[in-house]
Amino acid sequence: MRTKYIIVTGGVLSGLGKGIVAASIGRLLTPTYNVVPVKCDGYLNVDPGTMNPVEHGEVFVLDDGGEVDLDFGHYERFLNRDCKFEWNLTSGKIFKSLVEKERKGEFLGKTVQVIPHVTGEIRERWKSIAKKEKADILLIEIGGTVGDLENLWFLEAARELAAEVDRKDILFVHMGLLPVIDGQGQQKTKPMQQSLLFLRERGLIPRVLIGRSKERLTEKTKERIGFACNVPKENVFSDPNVTSVYEIPLILEEEGLRKVLADELDMKVPSKLGRWSELVHAVKDAKKSVSIAVCGKYTELADSYLSIQEALFHAGAHNDAKVHLRWVETSDIEKGKIPIKDALKGCDGVIVPGGFGSRGVEGKINVIQYLRENKIPFLGICYGMQLAVIEYARSVCGLGGANTTEVNASTSHPVIDILPEQRAIAYKGGTMRLGGHNVEVKKASKASGLYGALSIRERFRHRYEVNPQYVSHIESAQFRFSGKAPNQPIMQLCELSDHPFFVGTQFHPELTSRLERPSPLFLGLIAASLKCKEQKFKLWK
Ligand code: GLN
Repeated sequence: MRTKYIIVTGGVLSGLGKGIVAASIGRLLTPTYNVVPVKCDGYLNVDPGTMNPVEHGEVFVLDDGGEVDLDFGHYERFLNRDCKFEWNLTSGKIFKSLVEKERKGEFLGKTVQVIPHVTGEIRERWKSIAKKEKADILLIEIGGTVGDLENLWFLEAARELAAEVDRKDILFVHMGLLPVIDGQGQQKTKPMQQSLLFLRERGLIPRVLIGRSKERLTEKTKERIGFACNVPKENVFSDPNVTSVYEIPLILEEEGLRKVLADELDMKVPSKLGRWSELVHAVKDAKKSVSIAVCGKYTELADSYLSIQEALFHAGAHNDAKVHLRWVETSDIEKGKIPIKDALKGCDGVIVPGGFGSRGVEGKINVIQYLRENKIPFLGICYGMQLAVIEYARSVCGLGGANTTEVNASTSHPVIDILPEQRAIAYKGGTMRLGGHNVEVKKASKASGLYGALSIRERFRHRYEVNPQYVSHIESAQFRFSGKAPNQPIMQLCELSDHPFFVGTQFHPELTSRLERPSPLFLGLIAASLKCKEQKFKLWK
């Protein structure tokens, strides 16, 4: 089939959840069609790898090692496919490649300009991805809000593309906010209308509109938007507040988007959502519930740990449980603002997630000690695993002052040290040990039981590792490293045997968890936490 292009834009304001809507559209078309998502971001960073997660949300890591926008997490989870670094275009990436070409003399004699060179480069990349991936649908999300200066070249490239391809091969979908003024009750359509004016000025005519609002759009609202914006009211859809983002494809399906997409793009209607809908309902109707604390230092923006939240949801869906999350800021624990016992009161399990630098580290170590001693289920991810090793070295192995050289370069016991290949690297972009690697899992370990395999593949993003020189000193009958890199002494999993669930992973299991294929380690954590909760209840009775 000839590639069809769907271009998703957003108006009125940022943070509407355009990525979820784009991913939901992709979900409705998958698996009938080969949908390839592309995200265009206006910023000048080449990739988001160097940005603080509190500012931009989590950095998502792909199997190919690409550090990309967190929307790729939604795409992978909704489309159930692995994405590629090439599919994330940023202004930084586009400009870098153009400037490099210019310096090599590829434009000799010419003035290099936004039109046609920047827009041409963008178009070429879209087309080449479509060709390489044999995409039935290239689903292009343009980040930011229409009207921003920094995504104008992407909009112009989309206009040029529309002029080039058949009308039935391209569809613009625009989403905008429909606010309700307190006390008035009416869904206001004017902001949406005005953001459309901007698109028209750029020569872009959306044929599908999606209204972000508290409640579903009323028939009247749909009629009003349709009339004002030149689309039939059947082409106007709701994106209301929901308890889980996985409900959005279901709502769009129910309102008829599958058929509208098929009609607009002149193709056969894709098949219905099957198991997806069952799983989403399983959580809605779940009888059990469990409370999990995430103890980190980027807790002021929930998006910093987005994939962890999602992985917990997936594991809940498969355990007949709703998972309640509590954010615990470890810098507060470190400063003694709140005792650990109080911070974790009522929590049935705890995650210490990945992180960088020294802020909040001692707080995390104290939390881990508390979890180990009080037998509370614990999953330590990346930095969380490294700190679990430090805690054990200090408290149990007699290695007082043990630390990571990331925090203290002259520690007496560098139980966590920089990876040898990282020593010489000065450049900060894309230079960590990144992406998917195989992990060898030890027989008869908790990890092998959960994965049901001795060889697994998971994704990494780190510079430091367990110092191989300390491995034998730290390992004991209870504490062991249950996974490592094949043919390398890099420890990738650790666990305690005399504990209901105490597992550390150098990799990020949250990145590969999907609703239809939850992460075994998250499943294990939730199952153990549910069990601990039950036991607590029994004790109280
Ligand atoms: N800072 C640690 C390292 O670089 C852990 C990284 C992480 O948690 N992603 O190894």
